[in-house]
Amino acid sequence: MQAAFAELTCPNCAKLWEEDASYMPDPDEPFACPACTAERLTSAFARTDRDLEVLQRR
Ligand SMILES: [Zn+2]
Repeated sequence: MQAAFAELTCPNCAKLWEEDASYMPDPDEPFACPACTAERLTSAFARTDRDLEVLQRR
């Protein structure tokens, strides 16, 4: 599968980074920020609707 990168941003500490969507959990599963370890739904880390689509399509 081709790598699909999503821009992610943490709702807690505002860290902004890119991640290969294939390494991310499903959008409705919890994900812990690598910077501040705050846990939110993976969908909450998507920076834009497009990034959320990338997470859903993988
Ligand atoms: Zn964070």
